[in-house]
Amino acid sequence: MQYHASSIAQVEKEQQTDRKRGLSAAAVKKRRAAGKNALPQAGSQLNAFKIFIRQWKSPLILVLVVAGTISGLLGETIDMTIIYITAFLNALIGFFQEYKADSALQQLASLTVQHAIVIRDGDKQQVLAEELVTGDIVLVSPGQNIPADGRLVAVEGLHVNESALTGESATIEKKTKKVSAHAGIGDQANMLFRGTTVVDGTGTMIVTAIGTETNLGKIAALVSSTEDEETPLQKELAKLAKYLTYIIVAIAVAIFAIGILLPGEESVLHLFEVAIAVAVAAIPEGLVISLTVILAIGMQFILKRNALVRRLVAAETLGGVSVICTDKTGTLTEGKMSVEYIQTYDSTILLKNTAASMVATKALEIGVICNDATIVSEDGSETIVGDTTDIAFVEAGGYHNMTQDALVAGRKKLGALPFSSEWKYMAAAYSNDDGATMYIKGAPDILLNKATAFHDGDDIRNMTDTAQKAIAQELQTCASQGYRTLALAYKKIDSDTTLLDHDDVSDLVWVGFVAIEDPIRDGVKETIKLAKKAGIRIIMITGDHKKTAAFIAKRLGIKATKETIREGSDLEQMSDTELQSYVKKAAIFARVSPEHKIRIVQALKANREVVAMTGDGINDAPALKGADIGVAVGSGTDVAKETADMVLLDDSFTTIVAAVEEGRTIYANIKKVVVYMLSGSFAEVVMVLGSLVAGLPVAALPAQILWVNIIEDSFPTMSLAFEKGSKKDMSKPPRKLGEPLFSKEMKMIILLKSVLSNVMLFAIFYYMLQIADITTTRTVVFAGFAVDSLFLIFSVRQLEQQVWQYNPFSNKKLLGAVLFGWSMLLLAIYAPPLQTLLRTVALGAHEWALLISFGVFNVILIEAIKAVFISKKQYA
Ligand code: ATP
Repeated sequence: MQYHASSIAQVEKEQQTDRKRGLSAAAVKKRRAAGKNALPQAGSQLNAFKIFIRQWKSPLILVLVVAGTISGLLGETIDMTIIYITAFLNALIGFFQEYKADSALQQLASLTVQHAIVIRDGDKQQVLAEELVTGDIVLVSPGQNIPADGRLVAVEGLHVNESALTGESATIEKKTKKVSAHAGIGDQANMLFRGTTVVDGTGTMIVTAIGTETNLGKIAALVSSTEDEETPLQKELAKLAKYLTYIIVAIAVAIFAIGILLPGEESVLHLFEVAIAVAVAAIPEGLVISLTVILAIGMQFILKRNALVRRLVAAETLGGVSVICTDKTGTLTEGKMSVEYIQTYDSTILLKNTAASMVATKALEIGVICNDATIVSEDGSETIVGDTTDIAFVEAGGYHNMTQDALVAGRKKLGALPFSSEWKYMAAAYSNDDGATMYIKGAPDILLNKATAFHDGDDIRNMTDTAQKAIAQELQTCASQGYRTLALAYKKIDSDTTLLDHDDVSDLVWVGFVAIEDPIRDGVKETIKLAKKAGIRIIMITGDHKKTAAFIAKRLGIKATKETIREGSDLEQMSDTELQSYVKKAAIFARVSPEHKIRIVQALKANREVVAMTGDGINDAPALKGADIGVAVGSGTDVAKETADMVLLDDSFTTIVAAVEEGRTIYANIKKVVVYMLSGSFAEVVMVLGSLVAGLPVAALPAQILWVNIIEDSFPTMSLAFEKGSKKDMSKPPRKLGEPLFSKEMKMIILLKSVLSNVMLFAIFYYMLQIADITTTRTVVFAGFAVDSLFLIFSVRQLEQQVWQYNPFSNKKLLGAVLFGWSMLLLAIYAPPLQTLLRTVALGAHEWALLISFGVFNVILIEAIKAVFISKKQYA
């Protein structure tokens, strides 16, 4: 059926539904059998086999396979076996790391759920968008992502952005009238399409297609999930790994050449194997994937603290956040609003006073009529969904037995102006035989300026300067006590009015305002203190009144003085340069609109700050995109959530700081892995090259090097992703923008460790050569490589604390990794089959004493370097 070219009645018939009552529960159940309203996400099926196969395409593993085959062809079956085994183990480890990272990321991706409001069995219900069926009657509102394709049956100023589907960025006004059968998607004004977004107004549609049957579903290319772009650190480390690879390949070639040129007993094949083994051991192939693992695991830790990070790059940036620009309502406060009292010109009436005056009752009525909150049933119980301010009015009306349905019964809706953060008010107009009225609810300072009359008791008087001042004074007093204030007004209009315009919001009759209590969230004050200690500035950016904002700020310990508070209107007077200089001290921006938020973000970024900015509305999207970390509140619109880098599942400010804290841990862990991998990776190169140049037998055999590489590079690096943060992470300023990953300390550790510990190992090698046979000597060197890493890992766990200052057993995964390493080592030395394969011998107490001293030496070395830097930094 061509729904756009059919009448609503025809569509109802075709879909066997009723636009007023919707489907019955039984019909929904039946239709669900047709499948879910979901699109297959590209790559959503984690294909373990594919990931495993991918490992074999890595050049390193290919080299191993080739080397193994050459050894085999030349009759060295033992070498061939061990090279094949290590190639397999390397592939297995690579697989394990990638699988872990991918599954962690995918788990996060699947958490974004979308809801829809439907009419079923005559009731409004909130359901998961995934559970929609054809024939469902769906209500859509601003900021919502349209969940399925459907034919519109009612609209109220509905404007939609269809760029996701058509590429056309202009908003399109939607109607209900049928259109030509030949109309293309862009011209089907009476249809809504999945994946497009509501910009303005509301609408009701009959679902005509779900899931893959929708237009979006049919365009496969659009369905593929957006590939996560490479993060700056991934790029940096990939580059570093590439350079190191070149250098190491050159060294490997040199080893081969020197081996051949210098007189020695090594065969060409043997030298070839040694060169390959050294290259495999030294090339930090796991660097980038380890980083990805840390980011992905870190994102899971952040999720445990109630924030969903949507992009890898955000997980990396989070720790560097230097300014958090936060909403007030719902983020610093609970967002659970309750009307406390109604203030009319002549009196103050507590909400719970049932003997309210006529004017107070009228004020409340306006709040209930001019209201977009909806009562829905969800899992059997009734809840009110919608804007929290609107919900407060529905609840307040409830005290006085007012409902919107009862108040507008018998009246015709002429039009509405939905709430927007720009205008800061909303309006709805109704008519009956007595005439038509427009009801307005919004920010008092704005509506007061548009009022030309006011209610004084039962009388309506012309607004005078004195009356206006008196009302303004009351508003100030109320706001300075921390109440959120909302004004209620009305205006008689022509009964033939069809659409409302913002120009109509003038000549209002002021009825009064209400004081709404919105308690501060528990724990926010402490969090702000923590953020300050961590060198993070907090700027409150609110649409609310300056006085209300200042009151809340003071209670929270945000410095709110005349100098540090500005309003959106002040901002408009400032040039970009002035704003850039002002934001250095700003604490509060009140009565701002979304476009002010973008300017604030830009000004802060121009000062080289790393900015996290919260938002919830559709118009916040550009600011969220512009910020380094766009933070959407979980209760915000789909559009905000989709643009954001991070979604706060509990809307709370505390969660932002918790996420930053985890972000710092992530960054610290990245440093640890880099230090660990790089400071261990040159050992084999130095020993082999050194022994050849010194004219001694090669210090370690290829099989041994390959084996030890598995011990070093596998689980220990992964386990560092699970390292908990140190308290010190939040007692130092955020890292500077553009600060290189490699700090002086890291460079020092890598350099000194590589030089000194290899000199020590070489000395052990030389000493062993004097007192033992070459097989024992090589076994000691082989064990030395492993012991080095298995001790070192405990020291790099925290770079800003000494090893004795933290619990060595707190990271269970790391203990497991170390245990695995020791088992692999001991098996290699004591299990007869491996002794044959790896050409090792059992070691005695004397050798072990040497090895343990070597391990301890490494720890002492790193701790000494750490001590120098710790004393320099003087952490609090
Ligand atoms: P924040 O920006 O901290 O979340 P906010 O909720 O006050 O605070 P906006 O949502 O932009 O910010 O609202 C701006 C102003 O518009 C509010 O201070 C209030 O006066 C008015 N307002 C908010 N919600 C509604 C509503 N549902 N109906 C009418 N007016 C509203």
